[in-house]
Amino acid sequence: TEETLVLVKPDGVARNLIGEILRRIEAKGYQLVDIKLFEPERTLLAAHYEEHEGKPFYLPLIEFMESGPVLAVRVAGNGVIEGFRSLAGTTNPTSAAPGTIRGDLGRDWGLKVQQNLVHGSDSPESAARELALWFA
Ligand code: ATP
Repeated sequence: TEETLVLVKPDGVARNLIGEILRRIEAKGYQLVDIKLFEPERTLLAAHYEEHEGKPFYLPLIEFMESGPVLAVRVAGNGVIEGFRSLAGTTNPTSAAPGTIRGDLGRDWGLKVQQNLVHGSDSPESAARELALWFA
């Protein structure tokens, strides 16, 4: 079966939404294979977000991700990469569909970076790369 990396970002941890987010993943039938709560080093975040280097939201994004603990989860299941992105909803919480994590629980805080609660790998290549980084 396929695996993906899910992160509960610092806003999700600070708002006590870990349980609610993991509940939705488990309720969908996916397996939690490994889980880790910690404050990621900048080197890990820079590697994780290397595709965004140079974009206007890059530094705010890194600083936001350093602002508190992050939950990293290795999740397994058939089609879980696409399936989790579907559960998460689109990037902007304001337009994310109701029923999704971002649509139900997220809001636009008017900040320089979208504090959108979760991250999920977007392809099998990203999943392999990101799982190797976060679960080295
Ligand atoms: P999705 O692709 O659904 O947004 P993602 O987390 O993979 O999920 P990326 O496009 O990889 O999104 O962007 C990484 C993160 O950077 C986003 O989740 C969001 O926190 C932030 N971000 C992305 N685009 C913007 C933007 N235009 N303005 C502010 N923040 C952004």
